[in-house]
Amino acid sequence: MKTLETKSMVLLRHHLKALRLPTIGAECEKVAHQAAADNADHLTYLLQLTELELLEREKRAAERRLKAARFPTIKTLDTFDFTARPSVNKTLVTELARGEFIDKRENVLLVGNPGTGKSHLATALAVAACHKGYKVRFFRATELVTTLIEARDERTFLRLKTQLAKLDLLVLDELGYVPASKVGAELLFEVISTAYERTSLIVTTNLPFESWTEVLGSERLTGAALDRLTHRCRIIETKGESYRLHDAKTRTRRTRNPDPVAKTGTTQTD
Ligand code: ADP
Ligand code: MG
Repeated sequence: MKTLETKSMVLLRHHLKALRLPTIGAECEKVAHQAAADNADHLTYLLQLTELELLEREKRAAERRLKAARFPTIKTLDTFDFTARPSVNKTLVTELARGEFIDKRENVLLVGNPGTGKSHLATALAVAACHKGYKVRFFRATELVTTLIEARDERTFLRLKTQLAKLDLLVLDELGYVPASKVGAELLFEVISTAYERTSLIVTTNLPFESWTEVLGSERLTGAALDRLTHRCRIIETKGESYRLHDAKTRTRRTRNPDPVAKTGTTQTD
């Protein structure tokens, strides 16, 4: 009996490997003991194993999507302090985190001064999208422009454009920090045009609309880019002072007047 069991186990492992079901392979014995103890029937046992395999698969796929998105730092909504940024509508952000705007090919534009949480919110929404199964890529706008210019010279431009076209969501962070060159501006405009009604964009910027011409150079290009970006677009304004400054001030106040009751200060980590 013992040898028979061992032989079936070896065969089972082989079949599960051939079928690419590693989690079932790893868990089947443990779950079998539990099922015997619970008096669970065969179908329940099979259901539990397939559920474990699916969960593990989804987890690994989400990890791959998060890696492919190349976030500079992972940020999530649960570390965003909405009370510190009352201009940001929590209900809207929570709704956006469900990802339906991506199915509708809508865009999100985050406008506000430096340090007011634009990149945090953009990343958190994009991370949520990765978990929901969307293909995401995060770029600093200047980084994308440089990559596009280099790709054009290396003639790998088409490959990069094909990669971009496969995305569900493209994040362009810090549009406007550095004015793009004429070529850079045209390439950036091309990305925005190609994405229009095909790929959702999340754009963060510290520039008010009237200053966009400084980035894209020409009024014609700026008008056309803004037209595409803001058509079907949710705009979130992060008004107020920099969070780092606010955080530093709060910490200084706490050090000066230590509050013996409040042991847990800010949980913010960078
Ligand atoms: P911006 O992109 O607008 O310049 P960031 O998103 O980079 O600002 O924010 C600066 C730092 O402050 C980041 O570490 C970010 O996580 C943090 N931060 C900003 N706003 C908040 C907030 N409301 N709650 C928690 N952390 C915040
Ligand atoms: Mg930023």
